[in-house]
Amino acid sequence: MKRLCEKYAAKLSNQGLAAPGAPIIGGLDAELVWNRHDPRIEHLAGIFDAMSINSLVFAKPAEPYATIIDFLARKHPETIRPEDTETRTFLHDIPVCHEFTTKAISAALKRRKAVIIPGEGIASFGTVSPEQGFVFYSSTIFACTVLFFSEYLTAARRNYLDEEFRSTFARVVAALPSPRTDIPNLAPAPLADEETVLAAMTEAGRAVVEYGLVDSFFGNISYRLDDTIYISQTGSSLDELEGCIDPCPMDGSTTAGLTASSELSAHEGVYRNADALCMLHGHPKFSVIMSMNCDKKDCPNRGQCHIKCTECRTVDGVPIVPGEVGTGPTGLCNTLPPAVASSGAAIVHGHGVFTSGQPDFTQAFKRLLETENRCRELYFEQISALGGWNRK
Ligand SMILES: [Zn+2]
Repeated sequence: MKRLCEKYAAKLSNQGLAAPGAPIIGGLDAELVWNRHDPRIEHLAGIFDAMSINSLVFAKPAEPYATIIDFLARKHPETIRPEDTETRTFLHDIPVCHEFTTKAISAALKRRKAVIIPGEGIASFGTVSPEQGFVFYSSTIFACTVLFFSEYLTAARRNYLDEEFRSTFARVVAALPSPRTDIPNLAPAPLADEETVLAAMTEAGRAVVEYGLVDSFFGNISYRLDDTIYISQTGSSLDELEGCIDPCPMDGSTTAGLTASSELSAHEGVYRNADALCMLHGHPKFSVIMSMNCDKKDCPNRGQCHIKCTECRTVDGVPIVPGEVGTGPTGLCNTLPPAVASSGAAIVHGHGVFTSGQPDFTQAFKRLLETENRCRELYFEQISALGGWNRK
């Protein structure tokens, strides 16, 4: 257990989500162990008595995320309500707790998967493994970052940016990791047999996480070899795909459907519609921010944009589509395939980006990275045009 706690502490720091040395992770099997010593453990340990959990993750985020969560907590002192898919699926909303005490933190964690303690950090928990707390922690950072940049754009558009928001934004932007433009060296075609395909998928998944195009737990990846789709399992970490890829025959005789990604049907639809051999799906932040950027007033679909949006918006030719995870009438399996078929990439409203490519992962990776970089450029172009930012 101690090793698991150390593993996720290192992962938080390596992915730039927590300052090096900041994470405090506790795990309980026979006894309660922590990855390191810290005086705050006195309060954190009590949470294990107050709730039936087996692990706790607490850390002060790395910059710019610490500034972002503290700003949002000042603006929304009780509850932060992001509207992206990760929030909708896992977090619902994010409570803010103003006291670093066992009682206050556990009261918040009894309601939600993660809590923000201004000036201190984010706490989350797992009931099976510290991996769950790691996921909710990273989801909280993702959701808060998307919300922060979205609220700034809205405030700039409505002309109510105040000095505090402007100066916080400038600090956040200065600390934002620079966009990457280099393309990784991924295994070249031909990917002609199962072993080669699995190795290429594992490598591409790791690159998607390393480039910050998804937090490790989300996203998915697939490759079509003849009439079999190899796809990452639901809930697998894209940077640790060894042993977590399922072969799913396209004739429907699959037995792996239970563990295969919940987006298998959307991937399959793309392979049936387009001349593609592989697909990548990530949650890059500026693509998600731009997908939710809408200046339409009084839209009847407001609040339901992620399933009902009827606007045909694009980012440089990449369509933005609505769609829910899964196979219902408003499911991604219906909205995604035609969009990806036309341009090799699509942005799903509030959710992320899907790209296709062939004959190996390089083209799909390039499309994913370029879509995100273009969205990031467009975001700052809009902010500058609205007077919210001076590019130096
Ligand atoms: Zn997704």
